Amino acid sequence: MLVVLSLGKRALVRRSCIKALTLKEAIVQQLLDFDRAAMIEFAQGLGEKPFRATQLFRWIHQRGLQDFEQMSDLAKSLREKLKTAAHVQALPLIAEHKSKDGVIKWLFDVGQGNAIETVYIPESDRGTLCISSQAGCAVGCTFCSTGYQGFSRNLTTAEIISQLWFAEHTLRKQLDQGSTQQRIITNVVMMGMGEPLQNYDNLVPALKIMLDDHAYGLSRRRTTVSTSGVVPMIERLGLDAPVALALSLHAPSDALRDELVPLNRKYPIAQVLDACRAYLRYAPRDFVTLEYCLLDGVNDQEGHIDALIDLLRPAKGANFPCKINLIPFNPFKESGLKRSNPAQIKRFSDALLDAGLVCTVRKTRGEDIDAACGQLAGEIQDRTSIHVRRAKGKVISIATDLS
Ligand code: SAH
Ligand code: SF4
Repeated sequence: MLVVLSLGKRALVRRSCIKALTLKEAIVQQLLDFDRAAMIEFAQGLGEKPFRATQLFRWIHQRGLQDFEQMSDLAKSLREKLKTAAHVQALPLIAEHKSKDGVIKWLFDVGQGNAIETVYIPESDRGTLCISSQAGCAVGCTFCSTGYQGFSRNLTTAEIISQLWFAEHTLRKQLDQGSTQQRIITNVVMMGMGEPLQNYDNLVPALKIMLDDHAYGLSRRRTTVSTSGVVPMIERLGLDAPVALALSLHAPSDALRDELVPLNRKYPIAQVLDACRAYLRYAPRDFVTLEYCLLDGVNDQEGHIDALIDLLRPAKGANFPCKINLIPFNPFKESGLKRSNPAQIKRFSDALLDAGLVCTVRKTRGEDIDAACGQLAGEIQDRTSIHVRRAKGKVISIATDLS
């Protein structure tokens, strides 16, 4: 009582508001956060049978509905309960940019001055969505625009899946396929902003929703997680949500990879490749994609080619089961780096092919709207002082602190 009196009337009012808000927030559930198992648990909490959760899940993810009133096969009593207990809140869209090659980039508000980007890449036989997993990235690769911006926070499951929900249902409406079940997005790559395996707990439910036949029904082969090499999480992913795996390799030696991908100092190449090889026991494909961004004079010389071949086709021991995806560097001004010239890219690719490795060169898309790999920058309120650390040559500490 003494404490209450000393707080004064205004403070008391504010306190009771906060208490009321907290209670309300605890009750109103964001349904985009739930994979189907969690949705069933939530429905049971409302006294409903599991199949009701599946119906709700389908309305949200397959039909793109947010308004419970329109979910016509749910009992009126359930719709009423949902109105007070839950909501389906998509990310607010800030901007849409369309490239002349058909690529679309969306900028979404994730609050507190942070914005993230999502990219849709149409091709004749598929529609690929490149999804962000974090606001910023703590790994700090020297050739990546996201890494340059620093790190603010992990995205929630709802914020990750919201990108797919928005893209699928917006594009369906635009293409006038609102009423059909035909999917626009056939492939997802976790290659937007952020390191997905440093946001593992929110990533896995999002992957489960993507793969669920009652939601997006994506094939595991067409859902790819790309990582800079967070070794312990690679193994866990194999157990929890085995999808296709891509490793951002970018260098054939630890000395160079330490510089380009600072996380390498914690998880060096041999450890990362071992983890990838072990992952193949669970993977939907019998190879791992290795991404190698070609940087002029940095990692594209003859010595690098030979070292890469030695690494992946050792004289003793088994070949590493992989497909190499060479990515011409997409420049941004702060990096001070240049794209390898076309002749060198061809030399690199030919040499790998001649050595019996499988290798493709990634076609750059959406460059005119800064939507190509590594150009996604969004708007990040950095909490890691990356610019100060980079100036002091201490970028490594961010990546290792957080992994
Ligand atoms: N953090 C994860 C996924 C996001 S980055 C990862 O690093 O794998 C997705 C891909 O884009 C990675 O292979 C990354 O190395 C590549 N990339 C980053 N910056 C790039 C740039 N400027 N040009 C070309 N590719 C880039
Ligand atoms: Fe992060 Fe991937 Fe960019 Fe490296 S390449 S900074 S891991 S988003």
